[in-house]
Amino acid sequence: MTGKLGGGSLVIATHNAGKLKEISALLEPYGVKCISAGALGLPEPAETGKTFAQNALIKARAAAEASGLAALADDSGLSVDALDGRPGVYTADWAERQWFEGEPGRDWYMAMGKVEGSLQAKGAGTDRSAAFHCVLAAAWPSGEHAIYEGKCSGALTWPPRGEMGFGYDPVFIPAGRTQTFAEIDPSEKHAISHRADAFAKLVADQFGG
Ligand code: IMP
Repeated sequence: MTGKLGGGSLVIATHNAGKLKEISALLEPYGVKCISAGALGLPEPAETGKTFAQNALIKARAAAEASGLAALADDSGLSVDALDGRPGVYTADWAERQWFEGEPGRDWYMAMGKVEGSLQAKGAGTDRSAAFHCVLAAAWPSGEHAIYEGKCSGALTWPPRGEMGFGYDPVFIPAGRTQTFAEIDPSEKHAISHRADAFAKLVADQFGG
């Protein structure tokens, strides 16, 4: 039996202030008080998993063990069918600039270009279907855990379009739409995204609806 998240403090296993704010707002209506792993000074474990679920669980378990509280972590990324699921768990890494490419940091235009280059190398007519994934892992100090997998299917376009969103949004067109995630109003994106799907599953399981 899996532990429940309601009625207490929950460590959000992220050092990203944006993620903490988004997750806190989603869980506040259920009486959950969120604290970030960063605020507690918890170390960030290496994400050595081969799947989104493994990485989310590594982060949630590390935070639960170190804090003695229930913890929630997420891991997300883009998987491209014709590239056998890549970049997958390496989605953020594909944006990492090397020393010879200028200032260290992440360059999302370069990352989108790498995906496009890999697809074009496969030749004309290559399947352009892709999906964003978001996996939430909840872990309790007792060792129990729960996993919720969210997905948003779609297709990749080129060149990038739109100014909103982040990461790979400008090249991703969700199924049934003509605009990219970066052209769609953020509130609309949030209603259909991989993150919304994962959270809906968590809320249904943990809070019954
Ligand atoms: P992480 O879950 O923080 O490790 O992030 C994985 C990477 O996936 C992010 O840095 C983004 O590049 C990408 N990603 C995840 N969700 C989205 C999204 O909704 N839009 C665009 N890119 C995303």
